[in-house]
Amino acid sequence: MARHDGEAFHAPAHHEPVPELDDAVRRPHDEGRYATALDLVLRQLREEGPSEDAFFWATTLLITTQRAAGPGVAEPIPLERRSNPYFAPVATECAACARFWFSSHDIHAGRRMAPRAGGGLSVANPLGVQCQSCRYSLCRACYDLADVRCPEPDCDGTLGVPVLPTGRPQGCPANSFTEKLEHVLILWRDVPVDREEAEFLVDLACTWQDRAGIVVRSQVNQAGPGDGETMERRMGLVLVGLYERLGQISEGGLMERTRVVPIMSPGLGKRLVLVTAAPETGPASRLSGPVRYLLSDEEDSENDGSAEPGNGGAAPGRRRRWFRRRR
Ligand SMILES: [Zn+2]
Ligand SMILES: [Zn+2]
Repeated sequence: MARHDGEAFHAPAHHEPVPELDDAVRRPHDEGRYATALDLVLRQLREEGPSEDAFFWATTLLITTQRAAGPGVAEPIPLERRSNPYFAPVATECAACARFWFSSHDIHAGRRMAPRAGGGLSVANPLGVQCQSCRYSLCRACYDLADVRCPEPDCDGTLGVPVLPTGRPQGCPANSFTEKLEHVLILWRDVPVDREEAEFLVDLACTWQDRAGIVVRSQVNQAGPGDGETMERRMGLVLVGLYERLGQISEGGLMERTRVVPIMSPGLGKRLVLVTAAPETGPASRLSGPVRYLLSDEEDSENDGSAEPGNGGAAPGRRRRWFRRRR
């Protein structure tokens, strides 16, 4: 019998609180500034990896986007934000149609505090049902009330509530590569990449990878529109080789550590994301500090000067996560 929770977040046996996250998120949450609160949670997931507290807040906040935004909501969460791959481990995906939603049952069960707004443990009108033994899940549209038997072969469970996370195996699965990054190059064709899109593309292509101190660049793809993807990829790789020669990427980056991820950005066209992992030794393996964005013709949008690639100075207290595993 196959289980349907392979991509889900499983809370560790012992809760390790992240009090600084609670402190930071509670205020914007209580003031209805949900988008700001969710950005804080996303930053925590990107920089420190998965934790029960981060997923508790993610679920609490994302549930609010599934309900009507009340007049008291100062900053509703944009719908697209729900599909960020960092939130996939706490989503539940319909096995039939791949629609996904967030349920409050699991993540809130272990916490003493119930969310004041949005969440709640009521299951009066569930968005879907789930097999209580294998987590096979169906959304409300795909569920036949007359038949509660689990469709999974050899499973004799029944469909009902509570509904626990399954992750999003059919949607865009969270990337399970976990190595440290050195450089990301995004090639665009018609519409330049702005900061918000660049962050989203890096989330998508580099989920759970350590991006401390990396450079994210975007440039126009100089391959002709009719040249096809092979030529577009080649153009990107030529640029990676160029940055390697210029010392912006350490040795062997082009030949040994770069992969190409094509991503369709809705309404903005195709983006090619060239991700270069950091080498296992040398200065680039110890990059730290904020991500630097060098977007299109923008000079340097977010540079505090402390994160020159290759300086190798690890900031004090910065946790290193080498080949961190998701589960
Ligand atoms: Zn469905
Ligand atoms: Zn089942």
